[in-house]
Amino acid sequence: MTSEIKRRPVLRTLGLIAALAGGGAQAQDPYARERAALLQEIAAMARDTGAETGRPVFGARVMAAMAKVPRHRFVPALYGSMAYANRPLPIGHGQTISQPYIVALMTDLLDLKPGDAVLEIGTGSGYQAAVLAELVDRVYSIEIIEPVGKDSAALLRQLGYKNIETRIGDGYNGWLERSPFDAIIVTAAAPQVPPALVAQLKPGGRMVIPVGRESDVQFLHVMVKQADGSISTQRSLPVRFVPLTRNK
Ligand code: SAH
Repeated sequence: MTSEIKRRPVLRTLGLIAALAGGGAQAQDPYARERAALLQEIAAMARDTGAETGRPVFGARVMAAMAKVPRHRFVPALYGSMAYANRPLPIGHGQTISQPYIVALMTDLLDLKPGDAVLEIGTGSGYQAAVLAELVDRVYSIEIIEPVGKDSAALLRQLGYKNIETRIGDGYNGWLERSPFDAIIVTAAAPQVPPALVAQLKPGGRMVIPVGRESDVQFLHVMVKQADGSISTQRSLPVRFVPLTRNK
């Protein structure tokens, strides 16, 4: 009897602490559950497309990066409630933030190592750059639309990413001063692979790029530069990206 009376308040206090702790975590990250569900969906899609992509399971580091980056910060406030839906969303200026599954796939196909230097063409919202920055030493990202590039650079700074260097410009020519790169990711579709990007890849380096005209079906291409400088190319999934535009 005595022990029961004594125990109850203790249990109640513990319950309260647990509730507060849970509430605290929720308040810090109200999207945690949605993000976890998105990760499951990405894993399921990876399995479904594995025969075509050669990647039925994405690497643990890639998935951890996807679990960490707050996608809701990279989409316009209007679309906040859809931030963790597995779909692309408009980010203004006719551009889009890619579908999360595609971000995960392209990242996985790059086979990144922690010490790598990666070049991204098409900063857009900055989301893909943030995912890359969780995985490698240095990320360089180029955006051609000035206001888009300025906004994403400011957001990435605000989120504390110190290993991302951004630039406004035409990524068709790569970033010679920062080259060569261990990996290059192009997040806009080009009818042909820009030769400068191939040139700025290290031997052993990998490039993932959607190839095709705006009106046609585009395919993700995975290119590997061999030790002798020759290039091997594999065609992966059909995709749909905004076009890689050129500065006149
Ligand atoms: N990686 C982005 C996806 C952005 S969509 C994200 O995570 O949100 C593609 C982006 O490529 C657009 O912002 C577009 O303006 C940009 N882009 C198109 N052509 C470009 C070029 N030649 N050089 C650099 N950026 C370009």
